[in-house]
Amino acid sequence: MSHYNQLTIREAHELLISRKLSSVELTRATLERIREIEPKVHAFVTVTDELALKQAEKADGLIAAGDTNPLTGIPVLIKDNMCTRGIRTTCSSRMLENFVPPYNATVVEKLNGCNVVVVGKSNMDEFAMGSSTENSALFVTCNPWDLDRVPGGSSGGSAVAVAAGETVYALGSDTGGSIRQPAGFCSVTGLKPTYGRVSRYGLVAFASSLDQIGPLTRDVADCALVMNAIAGHDSRDSTSVPYEVPDYTRCLTGDIKGLRIGVPREYFVEGMQAEVETAMRVAIGKLEELGAKVEWEVSLPHTPYALAVYYIIAPSEASANLARYDGVKYGFSYKDADSMWEALEKTRQYGFGDEVKRRIMLGTYALSAGYYDAWYLKSQKVRTLIRQEFSQAFEKYDVLVTPTSPTLPFKIGEKVDDPLQMYLSDVCTLPINIAGLPAISIPAGFADGLPIGMQIIGKPFAEETILKIAHAYQQATEWHKRRPSI
Ligand code: GLN
Repeated sequence: MSHYNQLTIREAHELLISRKLSSVELTRATLERIREIEPKVHAFVTVTDELALKQAEKADGLIAAGDTNPLTGIPVLIKDNMCTRGIRTTCSSRMLENFVPPYNATVVEKLNGCNVVVVGKSNMDEFAMGSSTENSALFVTCNPWDLDRVPGGSSGGSAVAVAAGETVYALGSDTGGSIRQPAGFCSVTGLKPTYGRVSRYGLVAFASSLDQIGPLTRDVADCALVMNAIAGHDSRDSTSVPYEVPDYTRCLTGDIKGLRIGVPREYFVEGMQAEVETAMRVAIGKLEELGAKVEWEVSLPHTPYALAVYYIIAPSEASANLARYDGVKYGFSYKDADSMWEALEKTRQYGFGDEVKRRIMLGTYALSAGYYDAWYLKSQKVRTLIRQEFSQAFEKYDVLVTPTSPTLPFKIGEKVDDPLQMYLSDVCTLPINIAGLPAISIPAGFADGLPIGMQIIGKPFAEETILKIAHAYQQATEWHKRRPSI
């Protein structure tokens, strides 16, 4: 591995502006690394070599002319559900396998505005539905810490590439845990911002009231830099909020004395692996040592209902969002049909994978006239209760801390035939999306050589508090510096 393959954004930026390294050299080293280990990990759907080298050349010119933007000339990988003009955007689905968007997602436009280098598009669970990247219709991505295990999902490709040195950072999307859970499984830093903080324009919709885009990085300080670039109001996304974007790096003081941390007991669930629980206790103890005030016995009694609520609301929204894939407007189209109805049916039959079909069926059922009140409406009411419960907790605590996932990364194939077991791997992350809150996952230990993630949850739009605590933790620990030897 070239020593350039594990740089943070800040380290790379230092080398670039002091002219010790050019963006073209950094990009070449990254592309070389991709060629070398892709056959083992399969994190990329598309590698954009040509574009990357062109962008790198341009960035070198800008740096020579005095550009000091921290992201200029630095490689980034984009999850394949964010539209990239002229670059295939598949959502890891047969339905969009050959879809080339005519426009960029707002986050991609914003990164382009910082003259970044896009190295490719990452593999994911089809339409972001899954927790292991095994639902990709294209291929399975492997965890670089143990190639027989899953990297988590649905942003598995993005997390793997950051961990394994195939990009400096990546973007993912998180509907119920898809940034945080793979970040935890791959030992990288992953932030799901508050709902509305980052524009969803150009993000292929899964469940619109839950989806949010965020960074996957090598550490918290890098995460703050990426947030500076992607956060903010967008007139093309009516759910994005018109709040000012702070400089997220300014909260990284290392001082967390007196901050109040709650540890909700419902997140230490039955079926949780002992190694995860032990690592959490040690990690939270560390935060206490750093001066935070930890309350160990907080209760959020509606937590056990979050999973059920999520698996009614998310599929309901998905069933509506995915109605657009009809074989007429764009995407896969079944050609040999005798009637319009047959074409529609066959397009969806062949275009969607099993998990996507399962969600569409669950969603249409929950929304159907006879069952709407019993399922969808009821879930919305419980959603409100879960939200309120968090607000009450945040009157007493600045953040809540939990494990990111109840288990270590599991074996490829272990849960594919058991959707309920698969759904359970997100029990700790789903409630956060239901309440629209920001949360980060950071590396917090290892067991048997496998990573363990810690989740820090904040009040709405209090990303700074989360980043501050996560950064202080990383200054006092070394977990985030471990890299898989692949
Ligand atoms: N694993 C959850 C699901 O399958 C969450 C996915 C996500 O956040 N996109 O829906």
